[in-house]
Amino acid sequence: MLHSLTRRGRVVVLLAVLSVVALVLVARWLNATKVGGQGPAEPFRIAGNFYYVGASDVAAFLITGPEGHVVLDGGYPTTARLIMASIAKLGFDIKDVKVLLNSEPHPDHGGGLTVLQQASGAQLWASDASADSLASGGDDPDAVLPLRALTWIGVVGYPPPRVDHRFKDGDTIRVGPIALTAHVTGGHTRGCTSWSFRVRDGVRMLNVVSACDLGVLAISRYPEQEADRERSIRVLRGLPADIWVTCHARWWGRYRKFVASTTAKNPVDPFIDPEGYRAFIDAAEAELRQGRVH
Ligand SMILES: [Zn+2]
Repeated sequence: MLHSLTRRGRVVVLLAVLSVVALVLVARWLNATKVGGQGPAEPFRIAGNFYYVGASDVAAFLITGPEGHVVLDGGYPTTARLIMASIAKLGFDIKDVKVLLNSEPHPDHGGGLTVLQQASGAQLWASDASADSLASGGDDPDAVLPLRALTWIGVVGYPPPRVDHRFKDGDTIRVGPIALTAHVTGGHTRGCTSWSFRVRDGVRMLNVVSACDLGVLAISRYPEQEADRERSIRVLRGLPADIWVTCHARWWGRYRKFVASTTAKNPVDPFIDPEGYRAFIDAAEAELRQGRVH
């Protein structure tokens, strides 16, 4: 086709191709350096061996133990270094992190897992649906086609981590005395995973729930989504929660609770918030009934 064009025509086609390539390269670079409005946040102990090590909003958690630690969520590829700095600041070694977990595989929570895995050598566990998405660098099979296409050319998405193990709903992941139970609470994504575990504060044992996002994105829909959300809401309502968190720190009041903990008689008390947990689920259920999407 090109040889039927005039010399001038060939130059125009060449320039058009070069501009598309340049545009894709710039978009890939922007994606690789994106911080999504995240800034550093002071790391802190929530309770016992359970710590906050995430950025200003995109959360990450450290659960420490004598036989190795667990990190839940990786933030963006670019904010994973904030997580590593936070782990170091708390006095722990990234090399002692043996297990990586994920709430859901979108770039703001799954993107940094590769960086954390390379630094620690930790094994990554994921639900079936999340594993597929993580291993493909953030391709969400339920996302709209243009978004998927952008993932395939690297304009969104992230370098894929190595998924070492897949768990089933209800499985418990253990590292020494640490035991986290996986609850596959689909809706936001098919494999969205909530976690429940216990931490000790002095003589009391506290139930912790890390609830997966329950909101639906207009750009990521699938046929069983409503049914999944109904079930997820029921599952989360059934979990005892003294302390609750989610993958976006503003939803559970990270900063407010952290500030309150610095002056509280027992710094754990401001994080004990079963009412907030119920309100989070109630709000998710109201969204479901109203058919609201984001
Ligand atoms: Zn998401």
